[in-house]
Amino acid sequence: MSNIKENLDILKGELPENCTLVAVSKFKSADEIMEAYRAGHRDFGENRIQEMVEKHEVLPDDIRWHLIGHIQTNKVKYFTKFVHLVHGVDRRKVLKELNKQAAKDEVVVEYLLQIHIAAEDTKFGLDEEECLALCAEINSGAFPNTKCRGLMGMATNTTDVEIVKGEFLGLKKLHERIVSTYPDWAFDHLSMGMSGDYPLAIASGSNMVRIGSKIFGDRA
Ligand SMILES: *Cc1c(COP(=O)(O)O)cnc(C)c1O
Repeated sequence: MSNIKENLDILKGELPENCTLVAVSKFKSADEIMEAYRAGHRDFGENRIQEMVEKHEVLPDDIRWHLIGHIQTNKVKYFTKFVHLVHGVDRRKVLKELNKQAAKDEVVVEYLLQIHIAAEDTKFGLDEEECLALCAEINSGAFPNTKCRGLMGMATNTTDVEIVKGEFLGLKKLHERIVSTYPDWAFDHLSMGMSGDYPLAIASGSNMVRIGSKIFGDRA
């Protein structure tokens, strides 16, 4: 017997009302996702485009698919029609391609700018300066078939709480700065926190957590 429903119930009891739980289902089967679905869950996160597309095709239409992984621009065309939120816009080129494909499909794609907050080279993202420059361009109307809804970041994988907290608070601060610079934007999402660090993320202002192993168990 799996504990998916039980794990979801526990997590939902811990999360504040305004916090969206994205159940990260990468490497997990359609059956496992359906268990969470039957428990009432609708927001699922995948990090590989092909896997998300395949699951979207066989699973219920009212699932909200979050793309949380790194994006190759030649694959953008496969998901613009159905994706709910793209968390990993980590460079201008991806945004340009998103806008182009969304225009072709006559949709508006919502996304988050991914910011590099970790002290590790292995995590993708814009630095603060690149982010602010891109925001100015977004505000000028350069990408009309997209809508920037907030920021996403991944903290350093460390047990040092102060490091992780500092990174999350830095992202929160950048989020606030953009909100005050562009008060007309619906810039309301701050996606930070995973199984290992979500309590710290929430304490630092996260309102969207991406949690996999705490719901579905370890990935093989
Ligand atoms: C895999 C993944 C997660 C979830 O990781 P867990 O530790 O299993 O909760 C969150 N965010 C991103 C970007 C991921 O790739």
